[in-house]
Amino acid sequence: MDTTSLWQAVLGEIELGVSKGNYVTWFKNTRLLKVKDGCVQVGAPNIFIKQQLEKKFDDLIAETLRNNGVKYEKIEYRILPASSLHRRVEDEAIVLQNQQQANPKAGPGVSSRQGASHSSFTHSYRLGLNERYTFDNFIVGSGNELAYAACQAIAQSPGAKYNPLFLYGGVGIGKTHLIQAVGNSVVAKNQNVNIVYVSSEQFIQEFLDAIRYKKNTDFAGVYRSADVLIIDDIQFIAGKEKTQDEFFHTFNALHQANKQIIITSDRQPKDIPTLTDRLRSRFEWGMAIDMQAPDFETRCAIIQSKAGTHNLSLEPDLVDHLANYVQNNIRELEGVLNQLIAFCDMRGIVPTAEVAVALLGNAKARPKHLNAKQVVERTAKHFQLTVDELVGPKRDKEIVVPRQIAMYILRSELHLSFPKIARELGRKDHTTAIHSVEKIEKEKAFDNEVRIAIADIKERLYA
Ligand code: ADP
Ligand code: MG
Repeated sequence: MDTTSLWQAVLGEIELGVSKGNYVTWFKNTRLLKVKDGCVQVGAPNIFIKQQLEKKFDDLIAETLRNNGVKYEKIEYRILPASSLHRRVEDEAIVLQNQQQANPKAGPGVSSRQGASHSSFTHSYRLGLNERYTFDNFIVGSGNELAYAACQAIAQSPGAKYNPLFLYGGVGIGKTHLIQAVGNSVVAKNQNVNIVYVSSEQFIQEFLDAIRYKKNTDFAGVYRSADVLIIDDIQFIAGKEKTQDEFFHTFNALHQANKQIIITSDRQPKDIPTLTDRLRSRFEWGMAIDMQAPDFETRCAIIQSKAGTHNLSLEPDLVDHLANYVQNNIRELEGVLNQLIAFCDMRGIVPTAEVAVALLGNAKARPKHLNAKQVVERTAKHFQLTVDELVGPKRDKEIVVPRQIAMYILRSELHLSFPKIARELGRKDHTTAIHSVEKIEKEKAFDNEVRIAIADIKERLYA
């Protein structure tokens, strides 16, 4: 059994169910060690993560394993040996050795936790771009063509146009892929260009470490010597004032020197709560592009292309089925495809539409026309409220939580904009929608009742 593909499918699903922060912190570096004799062994990089998985996420992992067809009696959590962690780092992130030589400041000294495997992981990942993400294997279609064109232009001559480039849009639609493709393309042309790719969570963590260990100047030096600075998922910087200040100064220094800055987010700058005004206005200086989930045809092309990397050519019926099955999230689409390929691989059969239906079922298939009204009605019904109550003025807890859950589902399933979500629930102010979605995202990770309610509502919506 191919545990890697199976775990990839499981993680893909978990990623959709927890907040990005939780996913990156607790799940990203886990592994499936074995599935044998009724026992599933999950590896975690350190004791801290192991404990959290046991305490907080055991149910979620158990449920997701079952969803992926794994039968077992117990789950055991193990700490991964440091050597396997290192291997994974090398597998995943191509460490840009040349850059390190060209820029000695960017050496391991930046992180003060030298020696710990965690520290070296952070380090390699920050300077490393995943070489899997290129322009060549990015399928251009509706929803991403503008972003693609802007990224191409930047890769041609960084810093010349669209500075900063601010890409925003829902989860799993190719933001990270595109911005990493810019980095990879620039490096391919000129090994001496200093690219710094970092998620905003890593940026925050390193900044805090730098203060804690009084290495502030090293930290600033690394970021300010970038020729191209790529910051992924900037929304997590919300509320972190000191980090925002630091980033503001980095931004100015680079921008003044005509260095390229690329930023992504799940929403536009004006919808990131507690973003300082001066940073917001900086983000709005250049070009902001809204990326949308690709349409049916583009999804079909993506499926064919991904299957191609497994040396498979899929029959058209199967491609159609998959493209309908997952509509909004390419990461999820990839997960489903990998799950299917692993399933067929193990049995030595050819993937067909019938096999896909048998494995994935039709029931879960997304109806094409799920709309906001259905979500609101279904949520009201689940909580035994009337729609009027749900969208009405009352602020009792019994109504507020269901209302927030409805907002969350509108965001996660239909990818509506926050102003639209607010309107659907009878709210004038769209920041209410932002806070509600965030609150439920967090609560989902530890509140079983919330998670079950969401799963139940979704199940019925898609039944
Ligand atoms: P985001 O950063 O927007 O959440 P990612 O860039 O991580 O999304 O994309 C999720 C997955 O989907 C990645 O594996 C990526 O390669 C793939 N993907 C997304 N859009 C495309 C596309 N247009 N062509 C090929 N692969 C894509
Ligand atoms: Mg991303």
